Amino acid sequence: MDFLIASHNMKKREELQRILAPLGVSVYLDFECGVILNEVIEDGATFAENALKKARSACADSMMPCIADDSGLCIDALGGRPGVYSARFMGEDTPYPEKIAALLEEMKDVPEEQRTARFVSNIAVVFPDGRHFIAEGRVEGRIGHEMRGNNGFGYDPIFYVGDRSFAEFSPEEKDAVSHRGNAIRKAAEMLKEYI
Ligand code: IMP
Repeated sequence: MDFLIASHNMKKREELQRILAPLGVSVYLDFECGVILNEVIEDGATFAENALKKARSACADSMMPCIADDSGLCIDALGGRPGVYSARFMGEDTPYPEKIAALLEEMKDVPEEQRTARFVSNIAVVFPDGRHFIAEGRVEGRIGHEMRGNNGFGYDPIFYVGDRSFAEFSPEEKDAVSHRGNAIRKAAEMLKEYI
């Protein structure tokens, strides 16, 4: 079965394709299916709402089964911020070292045991007949005191699992424990009921 991913990100396509291939599922980006996706305003209050909104919109644009994800970093000491606003925190175009420096400054007096955080990913799958489901994946960690590592993207350099930041994990190590990896594996399990 062919699925369209509501994303322009080739890395997300590869990650999804690796995990879904054993189910006989192929995933494609919009330009690979000759589809033009309308922009979606990600104004939902939750990751699930945003993921579903993106997947439904892509499904209406393409009439194909669609997959969309929404994710972010939730820091307990900041009441769950930046959360659904992770990408837009301080503005979409602000470089991540600046966003991270601002978060570290906000967290400078937070003691070790209160620096808990998690990355959350919600994956929505929508079929043209209206059936849909959402899979959630999480990874627990803590906010370090400094940026470390050069791999990954976004907030990875300050998100520590064990004694390493996510930016010090190889891509394969990160896939094995990450929120997105967990959400995709869960979605793959749920998908078996639909195909
Ligand atoms: P989106 O779901 O692709 O829109 O991502 C939302 C935002 O959450 C990203 O722009 C990053 O700021 C943050 N984020 C999500 N997943 C990760 C991750 O694996 N590492 C670092 N930052 C992430």
